[in-house]
Amino acid sequence: MAKYYVNITKSHTSPGKHDVHEERCPYTPPHTVFLGFFNNCEMAVFQATKFYSDVEACTICCTGCSKNKEELMATEKAS
Ligand SMILES: [Zn+2]
Repeated sequence: MAKYYVNITKSHTSPGKHDVHEERCPYTPPHTVFLGFFNNCEMAVFQATKFYSDVEACTICCTGCSKNKEELMATEKAS
């Protein structure tokens, strides 16, 4: 389990998006909302969508998650 955070302000690296980071990520911004403890970044990104409509997983600490976001949300709606 790891702590995850979402950027309060919109990201510079992903314009218009609120980026999600794991606690240990060197790119975690100074102003964040604590999302909770999650087993994987997919769940953290899903939680972040409850705060902001435009979220994106950090490409450094959440490798692979950003690609699967739409897929994950579709799965969550189906279940
Ligand atoms: Zn990160």
